[in-house]
Amino acid sequence: MTDQDFLPADADEFDIAPVRLTVDLAALTDNWRDMARRSGKSRTAAVVKADAYGLGLEDCGIALYEAGARDFFVAVVQEGVTLRAYAPDARIFVLSGIWPGQEHLFFEHDLVPVLTSEEQLALWMAVVAEHGDHPCALQVDTGFNRLGLSMQEAIELADDVSRPASFSPVLVLSHLHSGDMPSAPSNKAQLESFQKVSAAFEGIDSSLSASAGIFLGEDYHFDLTRPGIALYGGEAIDGMKPLRTVAKAEARIIQIRTAGTGDTVSYGATYQLTRPSRLAIVSVGYADGYLRSLSGSGVPLRAGGTQGGFGFIAGHRIPVVGRITMDLTIFDVTDVPENEIKTGDYVELFGPNIPLDDVARAAGTIGYEVLTGLGLRHERRYIYPD
Ligand SMILES: *Cc1c(COP(=O)(O)O)cnc(C)c1O
Repeated sequence: MTDQDFLPADADEFDIAPVRLTVDLAALTDNWRDMARRSGKSRTAAVVKADAYGLGLEDCGIALYEAGARDFFVAVVQEGVTLRAYAPDARIFVLSGIWPGQEHLFFEHDLVPVLTSEEQLALWMAVVAEHGDHPCALQVDTGFNRLGLSMQEAIELADDVSRPASFSPVLVLSHLHSGDMPSAPSNKAQLESFQKVSAAFEGIDSSLSASAGIFLGEDYHFDLTRPGIALYGGEAIDGMKPLRTVAKAEARIIQIRTAGTGDTVSYGATYQLTRPSRLAIVSVGYADGYLRSLSGSGVPLRAGGTQGGFGFIAGHRIPVVGRITMDLTIFDVTDVPENEIKTGDYVELFGPNIPLDDVARAAGTIGYEVLTGLGLRHERRYIYPD
């Protein structure tokens, strides 16, 4: 007897999973095409770092490749090695560059390091001097103070006639720190700095914009755009309606219980019921990335005194009450008619009815963190494009 024999004939693991994630790959690829359209004449990459923002590098990578993406960005070399199997002839850029001991991986899997410092540059020059030419990219810092050569280092490099012929960057890039705030004056300042870099590296492609920058207009597009969050249905610009919803997270009701006025809920008894209540105990907790800061009460982590998280079931928004625990969350379902919900039903945590970024704001964070923190227990189902 196998595990499958215990399931009803028409059920699979997904149908009974405690917590589950549906990823709409048709929406993902629509969003990529949408960003490609908005990028105008510029080519459009896909940023798939951190397991494609938590949604699965393999499935998302294949879907984006089939939709036509041929430039990908990952954060670390291992992600590039994984992606290579699904994107045979794509250009894969590794944003954190190269580390001693990894040289062979860039050659074997044809990955492009994004060199981020003089130190990395020196390492790479030595590598190509020994092993022959291999494409690389250069990151230039225009104000972020994260990774990248300084403006001066970059321009000196561009003007350096003595640099070895075996060193041939294929892309020079920089990153906006406040692209999600279109009125920030720093966008223009970074743009002007990057225009100088781009001019210094004439003949080499240049790239400045992630999702947000694409919305700042054509000046910001250069040769290649690098959308990430917008592909996955998150807000690119703070408060702006996202593209199509890609991810839906749900968790199962284990028990529905009744409790009386004055009773308290969850650890620390931080929430006291003010009416006779029905409570749904749901199979998701902070170990699943349902952040503790979404608790209905009793967490000092959340700024601004927001109300905490909420789910969606049978047409109703239901609030989280009390503290979220490792594996369980309690929702107040008193306002949902008794005949509309039962044990085993699923509560939507975010998705078509509860925008990802609303959940993020309620937790005091951003959609990126909610997606990349989803945890290992979510049973996943992918919806494929026709
Ligand atoms: C993560 C990242 C991106 C994608 O950013 P989104 O805001 O998700 O579109 C692009 N470029 C760099 C350098 C990044 O680190």
